[in-house]
Amino acid sequence: MTREQAREVLPDGRLYVDGAWLDRSSGGERTHMDPTTDEIVGRHQLAGPGEVDRAIEAARVAIGDLADPARRRALLWSLADGIDAARDDLAALMSLEMGQPFRAARAGVAHAAEWFRYFAGWADKLEGTVVPAGDAVLDYVVPKPYGVVAAITPWNGPIMSMALKVAPAVAAGNTVVLKPSELAPFSTLGFAQVCQDVGVPPGVLNVVTGGAEAGQALCRNPHVGKISFTGGDVAARAVAVAAAEHHTPVVLELGGKSASIVFADADPAVAGKLAASFAVIQNSGQGCFLPTRLLVERPIHDAVVEAAVAAASAARLGDPFDPATTMGPVAGAATYDRVLSIIERARTNREGTLLTGGQRPRGASVGAFVEPTVFGAVDPASPLAQEEIFGPVLAVIPFDDVDDAIEIANATKYGLAGYVWTHDLGRAHRVADALDAGYISVNGMAALPPAAPFGGWKASGHGVEGGRWGVHEFVRLKNVHVTLR
Ligand code: NAD
Repeated sequence: MTREQAREVLPDGRLYVDGAWLDRSSGGERTHMDPTTDEIVGRHQLAGPGEVDRAIEAARVAIGDLADPARRRALLWSLADGIDAARDDLAALMSLEMGQPFRAARAGVAHAAEWFRYFAGWADKLEGTVVPAGDAVLDYVVPKPYGVVAAITPWNGPIMSMALKVAPAVAAGNTVVLKPSELAPFSTLGFAQVCQDVGVPPGVLNVVTGGAEAGQALCRNPHVGKISFTGGDVAARAVAVAAAEHHTPVVLELGGKSASIVFADADPAVAGKLAASFAVIQNSGQGCFLPTRLLVERPIHDAVVEAAVAAASAARLGDPFDPATTMGPVAGAATYDRVLSIIERARTNREGTLLTGGQRPRGASVGAFVEPTVFGAVDPASPLAQEEIFGPVLAVIPFDDVDDAIEIANATKYGLAGYVWTHDLGRAHRVADALDAGYISVNGMAALPPAAPFGGWKASGHGVEGGRWGVHEFVRLKNVHVTLR
């Protein structure tokens, strides 16, 4: 796949509502810049409140189309096949719009298809229950869909984020209005094309591209039964406030500052290398549950840091369409400016010691490229160790013993993920139990298997995606109490 081939599959930027492409939208248009080349990728429509209402109305009308579980199962399965068939195109659109290396984007699309297959299996397995409620009484509980689900996704993995919401929502019998980030609209419009191609009934899945205005219109509409939001803190507060107008329930999947705790019995070369590749190279450090704080027990501290710095320095930054590239740009000019200003502030205020990176790579004259950056001896209370940067910056913090590690790891407002590196089984479980976070990996990194619940604690949000818990987010319970005499 080349950039030129990718441009050939670029959607024309129209909204997808009620099974058709709208000719115009009241919210205006936006020009999207390629973060790799600084050139224009294309233009897309921004939904205004009128188009959002229209999409919600279409979704309301379509709810009856999902009444039959077997039909939902078949629909999700055909969407999985459709996503697989469009894998190269969807991956290419992500490489164009957000600079993710094509190979990684392609793997992400295949993973998204797996989420659809997993939740296809749930479509006909949501059972009710009979509960004991007294003599001569039949009391039963039935799971019911909410109706219309609003799914609001971020730019840093638009097809995976979409799958985490759309697949379980439809499995549970809900129709969806999907609003991707205005910073990565084209791959989700590519998914709308897949919906049309596989014959999803009109109104079942609608895509309204747009920004905060469209998001607010979705959240304030009384006909939206549930909101599933993934994004940052500021937008999440606005979503929660808007949802409160009609007491619409919300799932919030937010940011993190996850700790990776490396104990002295771990292999320093492996732990250091993976720390760098998970935290700063993968998706250019733009991932909510990446291990962006590296906590290392003092006896192996220097060896781990050496391996992390070597791995970071060895990253191949470049064009996402070049198979040799291991790391693309950050999301765009605004992200580039923000990340570099955080690095500059951290250096000026001595929040840690810059060990590698910290600037635009030499020779990169265009594009939002930031070198993989590692700070050592970071003050655990400093902003560098506390704030989500959402860019390729790793903060290394030494620790003395288990209790010290747990205390440092838990001392942030976030609680999304945690990572433990040790061969001591008892210690691994003890630390996993003690971390105030919803998603723990031991000696590796879980990569969102669809059967497992993924969700944050504390300021990382509430509610989960994945598994039986993820599908149950999209049903509400009805209790029926029948007096038998
Ligand atoms: P963002 O909060 O800026 O935007 C997220 C979505 O919300 C976008 O679709 C955006 O258009 C919309 N939005 C913005 N303002 C809104 C408003 N006032 N009302 C309604 N909708 C609004 O986030 P982003 O920059 O796209 O993504 C990065 C953030 O997402 C990071 O904090 C990251 O950690 C988080 N994230 C979390 C997860 C997770 O599963 N926990 C996954 C990926 C990203």
